Amino acid sequence: MKTIGLLGGMSWESTVSYYRALNEGVKAARGGLHSARIILNSLEFAEIETLQSKGDWQALADILVEAGLSVERAGADGLLICTNTMHKVAPEVQAALSIPLLHIADATGEVLKSAGIRQIGLLGTRYTMEQPFYRDRIEQQFGIDVLVPDLAERDAIHRIIFEELCQGVISDASRSVFLDAISALAGRGAQGVILGCTEIALLVKPSDTDVPLFDTTQIHVDQAVRWVLDIAR
Ligand code: GLU
Repeated sequence: MKTIGLLGGMSWESTVSYYRALNEGVKAARGGLHSARIILNSLEFAEIETLQSKGDWQALADILVEAGLSVERAGADGLLICTNTMHKVAPEVQAALSIPLLHIADATGEVLKSAGIRQIGLLGTRYTMEQPFYRDRIEQQFGIDVLVPDLAERDAIHRIIFEELCQGVISDASRSVFLDAISALAGRGAQGVILGCTEIALLVKPSDTDVPLFDTTQIHVDQAVRWVLDIAR
């Protein structure tokens, strides 16, 4: 089994989901006491969030490159960045490392494509919903149209992610905000919705809506489990 490196702590609430799901995935495939080989570098999220809101993506790239190199030096065979947003600096991280970065948008695009999706909704931070680094990858590499919520909904979703989900707060009122945004995207023609922030699945479950949901945390983990165990798709 290969060793997977994680850049986590963004937020740690979702890194817990990654840690659990990676181990569950290896156990499901191998059984018994089998568990994932993991090297985790968990960053200080207040520092990351401050730089995100200042728009200092160069400083963020430097931090993630250094963290990625530390995980590589510690013996990881491949790397997961456990957040959609920070894939904005994935090109810099991949360029600095000799081990592969398993990109969350590529894993998601492959799942969407095999589900026959042509138009998809996207929920995430404002960075992920509004900037091209994520949407363009899904649109250009997989030929899938990406729809995002309107401005007021994007603001509300972004606020809930940082003020609640990344701080372990789960509320019915916020779940309704997400479910309304999901229904509106489906009403505009989305055949499903990407939960494009690694904390959203803590709040919204597939049983909450008839719209198909694509949870990027689970999709990223499933890809990593197949990769560490050399399981063909
Ligand atoms: N975990 C979130 C994501 O997947 C947001 C936290 C961050 O800004 O990195 O985008």
